[in-house]
Amino acid sequence: MLDRPTTVTGPQLDERALAASLSGFHLIGGRFVAAKSGKTFAVVNPATGEEIGRAAEGDAADVAEAVEVADAAQKSWAKIAARKRGQLVGQCAALLREHVEELARLIALETGKALRTESRVEANTIADIFEFYGGLGGELKGESVPFAPNVLSVTVREPLGVVGAIIPWNVPMLLMALKVAPALVAGNTVVVKSAEEAPLTVLRVCELLNRILPPGCYNMLSGFGPECGAPLVEHPKVRKVTFTGSAEVGRIVSKAAAQKLIPVTLELGGKSPMLVFADCDFEKTVAGALTSMRFTRQGQSCTAASRIYVERPIFDRFVTAMAERVDAMVMGDPLDEKTDIGTIISTEQFAKVQRYIDTGLGTAGATGRACAAMPSDPALKKGLFIRPYIFTGLPDDSPLVQDEIFGPVTCIFPFDDVEAVLAAANGTEFGLAASVWTNNLKVGLDLAHRIEAGLVQINQNLVVQANLSYGGVKSSGLGKEASLESMLEHFMHKKTIMVNYG
Ligand code: ADP
Ligand code: MG
Repeated sequence: MLDRPTTVTGPQLDERALAASLSGFHLIGGRFVAAKSGKTFAVVNPATGEEIGRAAEGDAADVAEAVEVADAAQKSWAKIAARKRGQLVGQCAALLREHVEELARLIALETGKALRTESRVEANTIADIFEFYGGLGGELKGESVPFAPNVLSVTVREPLGVVGAIIPWNVPMLLMALKVAPALVAGNTVVVKSAEEAPLTVLRVCELLNRILPPGCYNMLSGFGPECGAPLVEHPKVRKVTFTGSAEVGRIVSKAAAQKLIPVTLELGGKSPMLVFADCDFEKTVAGALTSMRFTRQGQSCTAASRIYVERPIFDRFVTAMAERVDAMVMGDPLDEKTDIGTIISTEQFAKVQRYIDTGLGTAGATGRACAAMPSDPALKKGLFIRPYIFTGLPDDSPLVQDEIFGPVTCIFPFDDVEAVLAAANGTEFGLAASVWTNNLKVGLDLAHRIEAGLVQINQNLVVQANLSYGGVKSSGLGKEASLESMLEHFMHKKTIMVNYG
């Protein structure tokens, strides 16, 4: 076994040194270990193209070790009183708060997300999530059921065992926290498989929390999907899988879980509509379109408002105002406080987004307006920067309108009729999130009920928050996260116990 060499005890604000020192490890049973194969793969800073570290390349052998360790740890973790488990998870939140700046800098380096607008926000939010679930240890309650005289019938909630969690790269700490915090409070232990594009910051989170949690409760593997993710799903001792990623891989994971007859939670893609009525608060709504589209995250969000429908009387004004605002956003070094917009995560994703933009630009009748200026700093010349695009005039069946692009590309359409815009809003395979912008609450609430989505917001469009149930319908997923319900329903089962005292 190897232990990570470090000379820093508190937060390590030198993100490059931290990335280098986290290189080459899984974290299993509270210890840093190399992959059994000895293999590693490169972790690249997308703002410069330079290698900032390496990740252990896990396979089935590493999965087997991590799951055995987690299984052994689960037996004693589940015996700790639920509120005490919650207290420990609450202590994790406090430790994360002390490391917000450190984690923010490291995730900015690793993923190209701007420090001020995105990375620091994510680091704060994960502390919120651990804090929220830490307070819920006492809520793992069952019921008493009136069954028959002289029979006491009750339900108790029990943990499921070892949870396998597979996460993506866009907000990896946040999406991991939504899985790990409730799973632990519920009395499960966890093996996380990080995304190949962003393995280091989540490993650091796991390291920090292993200072508080008993060894083996929270384990972390890095590696590729088919080689490391698939064996985690298939391992017989993994009794629950929670996955966030593409619909395509979600279907593969779901099939494998079905073979084992284990429950699965899936948070998949989105193509979230934003509906703007002429009576909206114009300035607030234009600003809301920028945040809804998650331009500060380069549109790399499942809830990005990548289809914006604007009532015709304000359509032209809205498009112009929105483009002007996006023009004013600063693209640049993710670690620079002035930067609003950082980079795309990887060369593959960069090429994919570029292909969609080219398709849009080549579509007859469509106009694509590139906004904001490319960074001029020569140090960033290899950076994966893509200017935000606003498309108008696209047909409904365009791939830009139907597919999840996961890039800074939005499509705007005029509408005249509520029923027609509702049909358009519901006209993709996805159903994750939506927003309606109007001062007519009757219209807003009516649409909120009729839009096919797991989350509809009126006159705001926040990202996922602790305490609010989050999760999609249709191809956007199965199950909910972020709420009390998600812990009770997705990380526990109910056992009925009956006592005949007659
Ligand atoms: P993206 O397209 O954004 O990379 P993916 O759905 O491909 O999203 O990846 C999300 C996560 O799923 C990553 O951690 C990835 O390694 C993992 N993954 C990919 N393929 C598989 C698979 N066959 N089985 C399990 N996990 C997988
Ligand atoms: Mg993939």
